[in-house]
Amino acid sequence: MSPCDGPDCEKALQNLYAFIDEEIDSATVSEIQAHIDSCSHCLTEYDLERVVKALVSRSCSEVAPQPLREKVLYSIRTVEVQITQSRRQQ
Ligand SMILES: [Zn+2]
Repeated sequence: MSPCDGPDCEKALQNLYAFIDEEIDSATVSEIQAHIDSCSHCLTEYDLERVVKALVSRSCSEVAPQPLREKVLYSIRTVEVQITQSRRQQ
């Protein structure tokens, strides 16, 4: 396996974050995609960064659960009201 020190690897790794975030032009995207496909070292780096990014974005959504919490509390109250009303009707 070729070592990851050529200019292609350097370029691919430099643009890795932009590539994952899709913040680069499509010409560079296909260039890096082609390199990642043929270079296992850069593919490993790419997979690692994607996993890290996925974990980060997941923990970010866990940090801000307020709207969800209010939604859950609201539906609990709604159910409670329905139970109270159906009991009154009996
Ligand atoms: Zn490479």
